[in-house]
Amino acid sequence: MKTYADKEHRWINKRIKKDQIKKYLVDGKNFIDEQEIYSTLEKNKEPRPEYIRRLLQKSLRIENLTLEEAAALIAVEDPQLLDEMKKTAFEVKKKVYDNRIVTFAPLYLGNYCVNNCLYCGFKAENTEAQRKVLNPEEIRKEVEALAGKIGHKRLIVVYGEHPHNDVDYIKESIQAIYDVKIKTRKGYGNIRRVNVNAPPFSIEDLKEISSVGIGTYQVFQETYHRETYNKVHPVNTIKGNYDWRLYSMHRAFEAGIDDVGIGVLFGLYDWRFDLLALVKHSLELEARFGIGPHTVSFPRLEPALNANMKEYEKYRVSDEDFKKIILVLRLAIPHVGMIITAREPADIRGESIDLGVTQMDASSKIGVGSYQKEEKEQVQEKQQFILGDTRSLDELICEFVDKGHITSFCTAGYRCGRTGKCIMDLLRKGEEGKFCKLNAIITFREWLDDFASEKTRKKAESIIKKEIAEVKEKYPKVFELFQDYYERTKQGERDLYI
Ligand code: SAM
Ligand code: SF4
Repeated sequence: MKTYADKEHRWINKRIKKDQIKKYLVDGKNFIDEQEIYSTLEKNKEPRPEYIRRLLQKSLRIENLTLEEAAALIAVEDPQLLDEMKKTAFEVKKKVYDNRIVTFAPLYLGNYCVNNCLYCGFKAENTEAQRKVLNPEEIRKEVEALAGKIGHKRLIVVYGEHPHNDVDYIKESIQAIYDVKIKTRKGYGNIRRVNVNAPPFSIEDLKEISSVGIGTYQVFQETYHRETYNKVHPVNTIKGNYDWRLYSMHRAFEAGIDDVGIGVLFGLYDWRFDLLALVKHSLELEARFGIGPHTVSFPRLEPALNANMKEYEKYRVSDEDFKKIILVLRLAIPHVGMIITAREPADIRGESIDLGVTQMDASSKIGVGSYQKEEKEQVQEKQQFILGDTRSLDELICEFVDKGHITSFCTAGYRCGRTGKCIMDLLRKGEEGKFCKLNAIITFREWLDDFASEKTRKKAESIIKKEIAEVKEKYPKVFELFQDYYERTKQGERDLYI
């Protein structure tokens, strides 16, 4: 009789489809040329101020920078020039995304994993981790807490790589999430966009996953530096295959998923190298498929159970360098959404918005099953790592209002076909803003009426008023339609979008 270990072994062996790596290589090589990255950093390490200022003009035109140009920005140390970069990043963000912030919550559906990433609390060898995979009833309870009590409309669901979390489970769990609808103060709450952070899959599996309707599919390369990659991802694991992971998004595009997110886990290797490689990845996707990533993520390594953090001291990214990473990304790939998670402390998250960040999680809990239990403390045995910002969505939104940002719960994009090249072109032309602005106000109204504390709701009325006045002035042709949707939302109708 076959044992479970045998079955798991066979599952692992069938996972990587070598032909779905080979087909993308050019002359047997992938698109990350380490020598090119090192020499580009070296050649551009003393950029002239006039050159940097020309680049800032280019970013303001919402054009991608080249690798050389991004390297020049990385090299800027002069405080005055850095200040100009910050101001431009803010302008670029305003031009593409206005004053909108999108919020979401992470939902960990299981923490079984066959891989052994040295830095992760979920690694297979970590015998102290408490393992769990949520069943449909537990998923329902998690979503009731997220969509019924907190008011989230978007989730990022997170999976380890394991037969327990295979394609069928992913499809069923996402469907279970979409199926929950729960009564609120004035209407109902539900999750309308499920983004997915999962391991790399084959093209066939990705087609299956996308059939249930997903938002963004994210896979982070962690580090693009092969030697470091091999060191922290043991080669006898699935994740140990660098190229299989590197081409995750190529396969996603081929599978018809045109909304993808890439990222680096900063702190594994030299941040300058990984930042430039991340830009290269974005440019490669755009060159090959005509669409770059929808989002980039740039988490910093956090302490995790049985991850020896001393190993990573050498490449720890300081707060100053971290802010520069955000700045360079906003300027180099100006139309791309940028996500900062609750791994980061509240003060850095606050600052990051003016540097270019567009999306943030809130009320986050990353233990499997933690939302329904309303756990207050973080439990290292249950979590992948420890969070730096555990503030509630209401607290965060209150802070955004104080700073003049409007929180958007809009999930219209993928549901009315504004994804992939369509959305990227709209973002570049600054036209996506029209739909986003209208939908932001309508969905913010929903959230305020259904979930906000009295304090936050009162404060937010002035920003809503200001936004409505702007719509009237900027988009007179759609104002009547907008007003109708807004009024109906106030009366308790839900999920109206333009
Ligand atoms: N298991 C899948 C994978 O590795 O692709 C997806 C989920 S994984 C739980 C999501 C991301 O968490 C990883 O891609 C990695 O960047 C990040 N991560 C892992 N350990 C971390 C740590 N100690 N600190 C911060 N982020 C971490
Ligand atoms: Fe597994 Fe992902 Fe953690 Fe690696 S980072 S051990 S693949 S859950």
